[in-house]
Formats: sequence, C-alpha cells, structure tokens
Amino acid sequence: MTASPDFRCVMCGECCRGRGGVYLDRAGAAECAGFLGLAFRRFEELFLEREPSGLYSVANAPVPGGHCLLFKGGLCLVHPVKPLICRAWPRLRALVTDPEAFREASEACPGLGRLGFAALADEYREGRPLPPPSFKAVLLAKLRSDCGRGKG
Ligand code: SF4
Ligand code: SF4
Repeated sequence: MTASPDFRCVMCGECCRGRGGVYLDRAGAAECAGFLGLAFRRFEELFLEREPSGLYSVANAPVPGGHCLLFKGGLCLVHPVKPLICRAWPRLRALVTDPEAFREASEACPGLGRLGFAALADEYREGRPLPPPSFKAVLLAKLRSDCGRGKG
C-alpha cells in the first residue's frame, strides 16, 4: 500500500479559465451568495447563468478563455463553499481511472503533472471516496472547452 498522495495546487488559476463545467444547484448558489453577504438575486445577477437543466453555471469573463467571474486577484472568492467540482478536483473518477483524461488534464494543471497518474490511481484503489460518475461528463466537457488546449 502506498502513502496517500498529496495534490499540491500551485494556484495558477488555469482551471478557473474557460467556459463550462462549473455548476451549482440552488442550495449551492445560495451558500455562495450567503458567503459573500449578497442577496441571492444579486449574486445571480453578478455571477450566474441559468442552464436549461435548472442548474446555474458560474459565468466567465466574456473573452476567449476568460476566467470564472468568481476568480479575483488570483483567488476564488467563494473558496470555502465553492462548487463541488472545484472542491473535488483532482479526485474525479475520470482522472483516476483514465490515463488519457489524466494526461489531457495535466497539460493544463501543473499540480496534476507533479502528482502523476499512478499516485492518484493508487489512492483510488485504496478506497478514498470519489464524487459520482456524472462528474466524468462534466469534467470532460470542461477539459475540452474553449480554453484552447483542452482545459477550461
Ligand atoms: S468557483 Fe472558484 S474555484 Fe471554481 S472555477 Fe470559479 S474561481 Fe475557480
Ligand atoms: S490548474 Fe491545477 S494547479 Fe492550477 S489552480 Fe487549478 S488545481 Fe491548482
């Protein structure tokens, strides 16, 4: 059994660029609004877009590969309560089971490159909990979105 690997985020902000994949349900959005001390409607107006599914997505700066609007000064404004996919990264089923998805993702995420697929996959085999499989679709859509090199 190997030691559980440490993922070290270098805070480059690359994963906060490009449209797609950062979804919130009403409760998650309300939690973020509350964290910022904003009324829900105001938070929605400033940061969110409604999706046909009924979920909210966090909007991005309207330039190619623009950052998530919650990304300010190199930090996430809602870090302690950020959307689930942002909290879960990189412990996503797609990454720990699919070396190709891992390779694509590590081209954009320096933290992943340092960690390596084997370390993350070992952690998965050791039974650490992962988010549900539906994250795979979300993740891959995000990775292949308009960030220019496959990561959003
Ligand atoms: S919510 Fe925060 S962590 Fe998630 S993409 Fe936006 S700025 Fe990045
Ligand atoms: S791309 Fe990776 S290293 Fe950069 S901020 Fe995101 S998680 Fe951290």
